[in-house]
Amino acid sequence: MPRLLEPTLLWDGDRFQRGRRLRIGDDGRIAAVGSPEELPGDPERLAGALVPGLVDAHSHAFQFALRGRAERFGRVRGSFWSWRDAMYDLVESLDADRCHELSLASFSEMVAHGVTAVGEFHYVRHDDAGDHRLDDAVVLAAEDAGIRLVKLVTCYQTSDIGRPLVGAQHRFDTVSVDDYLRRLDAVQARLDGPLQSVGVVAHSVRAVAIEDIVRLHRASLERGLPFHIHVEEVLGEIESCQAAHGCTPMRLLLDHGVVAPNVVAVHCTHSRPEDLRDYAAAGGRVCLCPVTEGNLGDGIADLPTMRECGIPLSVGTDLNSRTDLLEELRWLEYVQRVARRKRGVIVDPDGDTGPELLRIGTEGGAGALGLEAGRLEVGAHADLVLVDHAHPSLAGVEDEALAAALVFSAAAGVVDRVIIGGEDA
Ligand SMILES: [Zn+2]
Repeated sequence: MPRLLEPTLLWDGDRFQRGRRLRIGDDGRIAAVGSPEELPGDPERLAGALVPGLVDAHSHAFQFALRGRAERFGRVRGSFWSWRDAMYDLVESLDADRCHELSLASFSEMVAHGVTAVGEFHYVRHDDAGDHRLDDAVVLAAEDAGIRLVKLVTCYQTSDIGRPLVGAQHRFDTVSVDDYLRRLDAVQARLDGPLQSVGVVAHSVRAVAIEDIVRLHRASLERGLPFHIHVEEVLGEIESCQAAHGCTPMRLLLDHGVVAPNVVAVHCTHSRPEDLRDYAAAGGRVCLCPVTEGNLGDGIADLPTMRECGIPLSVGTDLNSRTDLLEELRWLEYVQRVARRKRGVIVDPDGDTGPELLRIGTEGGAGALGLEAGRLEVGAHADLVLVDHAHPSLAGVEDEALAAALVFSAAAGVVDRVIIGGEDA
């Protein structure tokens, strides 16, 4: 059913405007945006500020189960690696029902926080190669939550460069690239509905040999799909790569031509400025997960260099200890302020930080997942969020300050209504 909406305020990508209408077509996409004169008719009047849905570019939904766990520390300091042990215990016990339950918990909470699309980086597979029960559990959970899903099907073959899988990692095993590609096609064929698509993933240079990463990336280009990979989240990965290949993981990807506009490097916590510059020149994207990087004590990414060389950024909730993308955007800027004793690290040419952060959470995420979304413009998916601009946490905020207030001050309860693919979620 076509719909004509008239919100109090509408985000045009740069600022909030009053007196604008938005028409949604039968195909669930935005058909028109204009004034009441340009779009006559009897609209649904929405009290609030209409923004594009937030896009979570990197999630491992099942890790919802780790909330409150892995947060007790003995005499030995906790780290990414001690957290990973707790995650592997969870993996050992994961069956399809539990996977569905945990994925639904993550996805439902995302929608409540105004997240309309998620890139689910799914790397736990099943006990035998022909079985898609865990894939189906994730897809069903997304359908149940009503969220748009880009299922990032993950290739995972080694525990470290040239080393066999150990323990729980056997549940990630994708055997070979040929086997992976068959599985990717099978997963894609099993998707139905306009809210679902797939992407290609090599877990990391630790988990997939570089020759296979090259093949996987080529397959993603041939299929017109996004390609995601964890890059340089922890120093151990860089040390392994230096020992095996004599260079950093990002340099390894660059040297093998595995960088293009469809490539999303997740984290890049310890990436070197010279690598980032070459990565930017080749068109690569970066997804940061500031709440997770804080939780795991990973470190602080070189965001000033990423910004300076124009790398398109997005954010993800990763381990889903929180699923609030506005909080991710807040942390993205605050971590840099604390580390560099400087305010306004992520700013647009006018020196404005709120609109730029909001664009990272919407347009940036859509770009990372290869979705036509993240902007209120003709042809984009009608994935929309109505923000209650009269919410107590936004009381008295003027229109021109609303984007910044939304990122830095809004309580989670400001999301009043969520529309995905033109339908109320
Ligand atoms: Zn991750």
